Amino acid sequence: MITIKTPEEILIMRENAQKLSEILAEVVSHAKPGVSTLDLDEIAERLIVAWDAKPSFKGYRGFPGSVCSSINEEIVHGIPSADRVLQDGDMLSIDVGLIKNEFCADTATTVPIGSIDDRVQRLIEVDQEALRLGIEQAIPGNRVGDISCVIGEYIEAQGFGIVKNFVGHGIGRQMHEDPNVPNFGRAGKGPKLRAGMVLAIEPMVMEDPQGTERVIEDGWTVVTPHGGWAVHLEEMVLIGDNGPELLTDGHSLSDSLFTPAGVSSASLG
Ligand code: MG
Repeated sequence: MITIKTPEEILIMRENAQKLSEILAEVVSHAKPGVSTLDLDEIAERLIVAWDAKPSFKGYRGFPGSVCSSINEEIVHGIPSADRVLQDGDMLSIDVGLIKNEFCADTATTVPIGSIDDRVQRLIEVDQEALRLGIEQAIPGNRVGDISCVIGEYIEAQGFGIVKNFVGHGIGRQMHEDPNVPNFGRAGKGPKLRAGMVLAIEPMVMEDPQGTERVIEDGWTVVTPHGGWAVHLEEMVLIGDNGPELLTDGHSLSDSLFTPAGVSSASLG
């Protein structure tokens, strides 16, 4: 069942999503060479708890962290660890969630650590555009497949791979609600979108055009099939009466992508 949020519920969800966007920005500002992913996890958890919210990832099906931290060929669900120390030239995906006043928020971004090469920058830009295209389709009367289709077709047209087993989702009182929002599919198929639905749209792009992602031995971390790098972005979108309304702050769209410390936005091209 797909829940329709009341105006009062949407107010709570917007407040939670905005705060979570701020928290993500603060965490990302600490993502530098020499910092471990456990350091970032601790920062996120401290900020969430300080706002009287709970980290929604922690304990979810036994997940140990408050964030998922996925580096380079890791796509999603990386476990924060003191042993995973960021290096110059890495690319880091941070995914974070909270629950407050009975409603969940969930958002993610991918940022370069220090200097990155053009190929990595290109991968980020393709995912930004895929996300933008998907959000554009989040309008009443469209179907979930309209979102899925534009995301998947764009990524494949750029020569990159799509992730099939991990998908976006509805969100509300539960972190994962109906409907699933895959990053591939057919236009005109799937559940119809109605005003008041809230979706977490989260395209993932793999450098590997062929093959299927897999989960490694830790039972969580999802990696690319052939070791290519991957980007993951996630924003929360309300289906508004007149079109999509971002509940998160749009941090993963185009020029608003976080600039890593010490690198000017100009040098990122
Ligand atoms: Mg999500």
